[in-house]
Amino acid sequence: MQKKIRVRFAPSPTGPFHIGGARSALFNWLLAKHMNGDFIVRIEDTDTVRSTKESEENIKESLKWLGLNWDEGIDVGGPHAPYRQTERLEKYKKIVEQLIKEDKAYYAYDTAEELEASRQAQLKEGKTPVYQGYCKNLTAEEQKKYKEEGRKPVVRLRVPTHGVFEFDDMVRCHVEFQASGVGDFIIMKSDGIPVYNFAVVIDDIDMEITHVIRAEEHLSNTPRQIAIYQALGHEAPVFGHISLILGSDHKKMSKRHGATSITSYKDMGYLPDAIVNYLALLGWAPEGEEEIFTRNELIEKFTMNRVSSNDAVFDIEKLNWINSRYIKELSPDQLLEFLMPFIVKVGYETLPISPERKEWLKKVVCYVQERLSYGMQVEEELKIFYRTIGEIKNEEYKEIMKSESSKKILQAFIENLEKLDLFEDDFIKKCFTNAMKTTNIKGKLAFEPVRIALTGKTKGPGIYTMISLFGKDKTLNLLKKGLTI
Ligand code: GLU
Repeated sequence: MQKKIRVRFAPSPTGPFHIGGARSALFNWLLAKHMNGDFIVRIEDTDTVRSTKESEENIKESLKWLGLNWDEGIDVGGPHAPYRQTERLEKYKKIVEQLIKEDKAYYAYDTAEELEASRQAQLKEGKTPVYQGYCKNLTAEEQKKYKEEGRKPVVRLRVPTHGVFEFDDMVRCHVEFQASGVGDFIIMKSDGIPVYNFAVVIDDIDMEITHVIRAEEHLSNTPRQIAIYQALGHEAPVFGHISLILGSDHKKMSKRHGATSITSYKDMGYLPDAIVNYLALLGWAPEGEEEIFTRNELIEKFTMNRVSSNDAVFDIEKLNWINSRYIKELSPDQLLEFLMPFIVKVGYETLPISPERKEWLKKVVCYVQERLSYGMQVEEELKIFYRTIGEIKNEEYKEIMKSESSKKILQAFIENLEKLDLFEDDFIKKCFTNAMKTTNIKGKLAFEPVRIALTGKTKGPGIYTMISLFGKDKTLNLLKKGLTI
């Protein structure tokens, strides 16, 4: 029987959870689900200066919001707990001591100045700077002398100077690195904290990780990690390094390109299913033309052999399109529930609202449903429903309102509406048809002044539903105000 696959997402909590991290988490999650494996989340916080609790919380919350639940790891626990690296320091220390005992690693006492001088000298000669191994073979006496000088040692791994570190990558195929470019690197700093490359390997071994999907920026770390696996006599997992996410200008995605954190997409009113759908397409290409997939369809279709090594370009227009498709699928109740926080946030409503107001709002949001790409757009799309004074700012529209035909059609429409008791779409439409008939004003000449008087604009969705949602008083007030322009 094939071994159950185990993948992990191992974020460093050094900032808000961003699009790139979410995509790595998603690909791991999809692979685990597709192969009936386990998805583990652990926290890599060995960078004690930059790691924060706040960031860890943000990552966990975002993962949960996206619905990327984990089988094992931080908060949920599991057989390999703890899942936070700073709580695993004793484990790392033990293995470092064992490596030193086996002479596969050694204490190095170089000062920062000595190392920098060596680096500069190598650069001058046009070489890639690597550690020159000054402390590789220190005698007990030399060690003692350094210690007495108060030097605090780091621990370095003995790395072969010849040959290659090679592996088959699920995205890039066969990858090779010359061992000569690696050098004896630090595995534990002088404060007893292991470096990322060391802790990640120990954890992946301990947690029985079989596949590692992570960002391309870690590709250059992989030879170091393989060197550690070799020193420990352990087989490395299968790696897959996914390409960068670029902004629309084909430069690495950053804040310059707009929102990058998952929280900001949540706050703008994107749906988690739409984000998941969009992120899946950033680097993974399904067969066929279809681009809208439910989670279950993604799980069923996702395979690493359709993940491209080309950089992916983040296209906000496409995300908006996908999100709008998901918004269109919402029932009236779901739509209102989804949009209510945004309606409150922009100050249009305050909670609690009465049942009647809720029913009215439900119709209002359905009226704009087709037009929404994300939740915060309610600010613009619902403006007309919260606009009471019929102010018209646009000079061109003012001119339209002043024309004789505009006055005529408005007047006729007002007269028809005033008599109407059943203020509903069909009857309102009848009133307008009557007004057009009696005035003999049609088309744009008839519609534009009405729309301008009611909304201050010349374009928008159907006016009859809008008028019925405005109600009789507001409609008549605005139309009459229109007459005075
Ligand atoms: N902690 C690393 C990061 O956040 C992940 C490294 C890995 O997946 O191996 O980039």
